[in-house]
Amino acid sequence: MMLIDNLQHLLQDIPVGVKLVAVSKMQPVQTIRALYDVGQRIFGENKVQELVTKHPLLPEDIEWHFIGHLQRNKVKLIVPVVTLIHSIDSFKLLKEVDKEAGKIDRRVNCLLQFHIATEETKYGLDWQEAVTMLTSAEYLEMKFVNICGVMGMGTFTDDQALIRREFRYLRSVFRRLQETFFRESPHFKELSMGMSGDYRMAIEEGSTMVRIGTMIFGVIE
Ligand SMILES: *Cc1c(COP(=O)(O)O)cnc(C)c1O
Repeated sequence: MMLIDNLQHLLQDIPVGVKLVAVSKMQPVQTIRALYDVGQRIFGENKVQELVTKHPLLPEDIEWHFIGHLQRNKVKLIVPVVTLIHSIDSFKLLKEVDKEAGKIDRRVNCLLQFHIATEETKYGLDWQEAVTMLTSAEYLEMKFVNICGVMGMGTFTDDQALIRREFRYLRSVFRRLQETFFRESPHFKELSMGMSGDYRMAIEEGSTMVRIGTMIFGVIE
């Protein structure tokens, strides 16, 4: 099967220690199941409804990662089923995750999404917003979120040098946060960057988690 060849080629290309999030948005459960059967366990979705629909139809030990923009009113739907939310892009959103996770007494793993691209459209925090959040009393009192690292998306462009600068910037943000706020945290270790077009460069620049759809599943219309 093409799909499985694609996955296996990709896995040969990714160093041990870098996690592969297979981005299964718009893929049917049978397709996800085929990858599960050859050992893939981490799947990424960018729509809440799609994730919660697929979740009960697939094995329990799949790690579901949420990678899309998350609306606050949908947080309660994914909190029970998600393994990692890559896309915390505001303090308000983090507060909502903490609140909903508290209701079911679960700690939810989160990454802070940073705005690193030159495009206006991408969501994400900047350094100052992150500092304000991490030094606030409200954050310090949160009991139901683990901040596990950072995520970012490079500009959609052919300019490789630009993307590399953006990835370097994100890695520097990751290190500064680690040194400043998370020295004692066992959770803060993930740098989620790299997609089909730029994962090699992302890995060269220190990525620990690549999110790949097209290279596994082909182009989706
Ligand atoms: C769709 C998506 C990906 C995967 O992109 P590909 O180019 O298909 O590999 C990665 N990250 C996010 C946030 C996405 O929405």
